[in-house]
Amino acid sequence: MQLPDPTRRFICRTCQRETGHWPIAHGPVKGSEKLLLGQETSSQIFQVVQCRDCKSTTYCLDTRVHPGHMMGDSYVERTDYFPPLQVRTRPDWFSQLPEGYQSILAEVYQAIDNSLFFLASTGTRTAVDQLIVEKIGDAGRFEDKIIELVERKIIDNTQGEMLLALINAGSASAHRSYKPDSETINHMMDILEAIFYSLLIEPDKRKDLERKAAEIRKSTPPRKPARES
Ligand SMILES: [Zn+2]
Repeated sequence: MQLPDPTRRFICRTCQRETGHWPIAHGPVKGSEKLLLGQETSSQIFQVVQCRDCKSTTYCLDTRVHPGHMMGDSYVERTDYFPPLQVRTRPDWFSQLPEGYQSILAEVYQAIDNSLFFLASTGTRTAVDQLIVEKIGDAGRFEDKIIELVERKIIDNTQGEMLLALINAGSASAHRSYKPDSETINHMMDILEAIFYSLLIEPDKRKDLERKAAEIRKSTPPRKPARES
């Protein structure tokens, strides 16, 4: 069996980029041998590697194709990472969200990482609905809830329209088997993250800035009275 190449670079989930890795363990995956066309065969090799920069470990499976005797060298056709690599990076304020929202959004992100866009789309609607109910209670239809959010100045008109587009897409997935493509699901997540940030993170940030402004005011020496001419 081919020995792992110590100079090979892998994608590190923690560093979120390709980095040098130490090989920790490797071996053939039992029962993974497959006959392809002609003499061509394929098999899988597992590898546990450790990032040289941050020391986090990664498990991956290489699918290696063997073209056959005198037909050329074998090559890695594909590498699968476990757990799968994050397709959508969680925003840096994710851990500041209340635990309940972290739990539901973690499932949405996992669905996206696994290309389960149908489930992810339905999940965005559920997450947003929970947020709305927390803010204004269960006020009936989504359209009515959004009108109330705008009237109570919790969101503005533009945010209301964005939210409705997101909810309609999520509802289409829940009721009419609508499966958004990766670009659309990313747009839906952009909106979802903006709404969550605006309703749950920004108010605390603002309070913090107001407190800092008060401290600055306290420590700023007062202006000298203007000299009389
Ligand atoms: Zn790393």
